[in-house]
Amino acid sequence: MAEKKDYYEVMGVPKNASDDEIKKAYRKLAKKYHPDLNPGDKLAEEKFKEVNEAYEVLSDKEKKARYDQFGHAGVDPNFGGGAGGGSPFTGGIDFGDIFDSFFGGFGGSRRQNPNAPRRGSDTEAVVNISFEEAAKGCKKTISFAKIETCGECGGSGAEKGTSAKTCSACGGTGQVRVSQRTPFGVVQTSRSCDACGGSGKVIEKPCKTCGGSGRVRRQKSIEVNIPAGIDNDQVLNVRGQGNAGQNGGPAGDLQVYVNVRPHPIFERRGNDVWCEMPITFTQAAMGAEVTVPTIDGRVTYQVREGTQPGDVFKLKGKGIPYVNSRNRGDQYVQITVEVPRNLTQKQKDVLKEFDAAVDDTKHYAKRKSFFDKLKTMFGEEK
Ligand SMILES: [Zn+2]
Ligand SMILES: [Zn+2]
Repeated sequence: MAEKKDYYEVMGVPKNASDDEIKKAYRKLAKKYHPDLNPGDKLAEEKFKEVNEAYEVLSDKEKKARYDQFGHAGVDPNFGGGAGGGSPFTGGIDFGDIFDSFFGGFGGSRRQNPNAPRRGSDTEAVVNISFEEAAKGCKKTISFAKIETCGECGGSGAEKGTSAKTCSACGGTGQVRVSQRTPFGVVQTSRSCDACGGSGKVIEKPCKTCGGSGRVRRQKSIEVNIPAGIDNDQVLNVRGQGNAGQNGGPAGDLQVYVNVRPHPIFERRGNDVWCEMPITFTQAAMGAEVTVPTIDGRVTYQVREGTQPGDVFKLKGKGIPYVNSRNRGDQYVQITVEVPRNLTQKQKDVLKEFDAAVDDTKHYAKRKSFFDKLKTMFGEEK
């Protein structure tokens, strides 16, 4: 068996190095030699094992004391017996710690270092706008509550002029290692540090404004640009207006839920606008110039002679803009024909006269075709 290297040498720190110095050195080396960053590199793998083994001992007060007194024999039951080391992936090494510090965390399963920068969570607000505002875009002042870094203590949670101290019980990690003897051997687990509640910091005099949390909830108002073409139930993301981050992490976003009030005339289908327009039966029969409402204002349209109920005409490009584009949908106008009610006797006489002059084949082709089909179905009536 090769002679074991001195743990302090492995870590590149002096024998009187502080816990923090050892931890710093460990993070640096563990990152440098991590197998994920050195795939297939046997030498890096060996180094990684060495570093972890050294840190496992030097980060544990009891083991460190034994090692300082007795060397390897004090901490390794197998020392001199042949097998040494052990898997770098077991024991009390906190990988989450390394990754959170250097990479902002890989996946959610790893434990978070309480002092690592953390992005703030998102906040939410609702904005109510009209159909026209959605179609044309608008500016709206939005009020919402969000968590901000306390201005009084700058987020430290400690009263002005004092500062939070690194927890001496856990060395600022917020976690303490616990060794448990089980039928399978000694198992090391970590649990939240009692002394600091897992924060890694101890505040002796809490800030009066935030009560020591370093964060305060405030009501805010900001003006938000709502782009033309936004639809009901869409969500606008306003970057950086969410809750404050922690330990220098970025703020979250503000998510604005857009609620578009229905319009009395217009209905939105995708980016097209639909509306129904009643015309008189004389307009339908003879054709007429009619005024049509659009989101741009009124336009005139020539309804052609013989327009039928349910006919649809299209006003190209009069629909709703696509968000962040010059393109627009179209407007569709569906005709309904209103049959006149409450006719006077004189009006009825005129219509009777009109009816007497009607030729089914010429004027009511649809009706004629319908009755022709009936005749085929039931046979010619006598
Ligand atoms: Zn404060
Ligand atoms: Zn602690």
